[in-house]
Amino acid sequence: MKESKIEIIKRESLGLRGNIANELANDRDQFDSATCDLLKTHGIYQQDDRDSRQEKARQGKNREFSLMIRGRIPGGRLSASQYLAWDAVANRFAKDQSLRVTTRQSLQLHGVLKRELKQTIAEINAVLITTQGACGDVVRNVTQAENPWQDPRISQLDRFVVALSNHFLAKTNAYHEIWLNKKQVLNEQVVNGQVVNGQTKDADNETFYGDTYLPRKFKIAMTVVGNNSVDIYSNDMGFAATFDDGNQLDGFFLFVGGGMGMTHNKVETFPRVADCLGWFSVTNLIAVAEAVVAIHRDFGDRANRKHARLKYVIAEKGIDWMRGQVEARSQTQLLDLPLPTWKSPSVLGWHLMPDGYWAYGLHLTAGRIIDCQSRRLKSAIAALVAEYTLDIQLCADQNILLLGIRDKAAAQSILEYFGVRESQITALDQRALACVALPTCGLALNEGERVLPKYLSLINAQLEKYGLSARAPVFRMTGCANGCARPYTAEIALVGRSKQTYSLFGGGCAEGTKLAALLVDNLDENQIITALDKLFYCWRQQSNESERLGDFIRRLGFEQIRAQLIDAQQTEKNKKTKTRRRRNE
Ligand code: SF4
Repeated sequence: MKESKIEIIKRESLGLRGNIANELANDRDQFDSATCDLLKTHGIYQQDDRDSRQEKARQGKNREFSLMIRGRIPGGRLSASQYLAWDAVANRFAKDQSLRVTTRQSLQLHGVLKRELKQTIAEINAVLITTQGACGDVVRNVTQAENPWQDPRISQLDRFVVALSNHFLAKTNAYHEIWLNKKQVLNEQVVNGQVVNGQTKDADNETFYGDTYLPRKFKIAMTVVGNNSVDIYSNDMGFAATFDDGNQLDGFFLFVGGGMGMTHNKVETFPRVADCLGWFSVTNLIAVAEAVVAIHRDFGDRANRKHARLKYVIAEKGIDWMRGQVEARSQTQLLDLPLPTWKSPSVLGWHLMPDGYWAYGLHLTAGRIIDCQSRRLKSAIAALVAEYTLDIQLCADQNILLLGIRDKAAAQSILEYFGVRESQITALDQRALACVALPTCGLALNEGERVLPKYLSLINAQLEKYGLSARAPVFRMTGCANGCARPYTAEIALVGRSKQTYSLFGGGCAEGTKLAALLVDNLDENQIITALDKLFYCWRQQSNESERLGDFIRRLGFEQIRAQLIDAQQTEKNKKTKTRRRRNE
């Protein structure tokens, strides 16, 4: 097996240091490619403005480079001062001064210039938030069920989520040395692949990850049984807590092998929903978690990164093999207990908390927190957080919870003052997700966030036409097949296929437990509208009043739905050909 280039970069990086410090000190506006690979484990992606690429090239100028920075925020929970620090940092360093809530309950800044990178990271760390391990081949941000109700059962997850996050944080001192001017504990140089001149790498004490870390990223989610607001089935590893008669957390159901990423036309890649391996007692949490991550570390594909997630190991070796490995490594028996059914309770709107204060779940389109002329959303949130010293929880559906509002009416007035009115958010809008895609994501084939409002309004109109608005499906869109906005567990999804087209997926479910499948490939905007119109028409005609779209698609069968939609695609093509012919006559 020939290991991938990134495996070598990690091994020779001396605990993720590489050449980052040197390149940070030079006056270029970009990092070298190998350094960019390492920067990811520090929570940083180098990107460029793809909108301006052509024009820059025409002028003979370099691309417009900048950095995306992502936080590691376990469970998406922030204090008021931490949120306000992010808000202030965005004002000073992000290109459009916006913040973005990610689908993993974190915050992202876009468009940070290289010369301001170190200062930005330092200011985030000043409020005890790190960016280390928010990206890269390590355990990423651990997500957690949202809790606007301050439900004491959900609150019990807090300490376990932090424990998991800390347990899997890389031990290297590189992050502190490079970004926070901490004393360097390593002084090696690599010459022709040999470590010379200094201490051994053991100074970093990276005993679990080793010097090549994981083969790919690893995602963990934690919830309570029955509540799937974090889309647990889309994670590499998930935990659903159970409780004893006194409502004390006593154990977890373990889920393994979920993952959204795939690559168009590469059959060895596919999205997968996690399998439940069984139940275990709470005392074994770290042992079980470590066993699962270690299986990814030891068996994950280190030659082909597109095939390097834990889901492929499980798909190829089988679920019984996986269960045996986890039980043996963790010395824990996984019990076959009945799993309660799932729901995804909405956290949006007002919730009275047990202490008499209020929580408000505020919907954010594609997670973007930004001021526009008529709707100053970012200012409104900052004003509320400052006024009431609010705690925050970021949501896996890219929304935000404001916790601890003393005076609901006064808070509503503040929102009104800044032009934030929630009445026009439809059921479709509430659960829709989109990734960033263009112009900053280097992998995007098509648009995501920027066209979400247009597609929401088109789909809302179609649902209304067929009287289906109350049963609005879970809709998600991404700029490429990587699936950052979890399209493959949605009821319908558009996945970027080329500059002009998307693949239409369908058949996931509202509870996030089922996998969608490709319905029609390569649709342009008109073809999407025609296909969805046909799909909604069939759904209305052939379902009872309560059947959801995803359930309908799976009941009819993917093949039958495909046949009907391909028919619609052909109709649209014929229309276009006729119009062209008429024009030429
Ligand atoms: S899904 Fe693709 S286009 Fe969207 S953010 Fe992820 S990698 Fe970029």
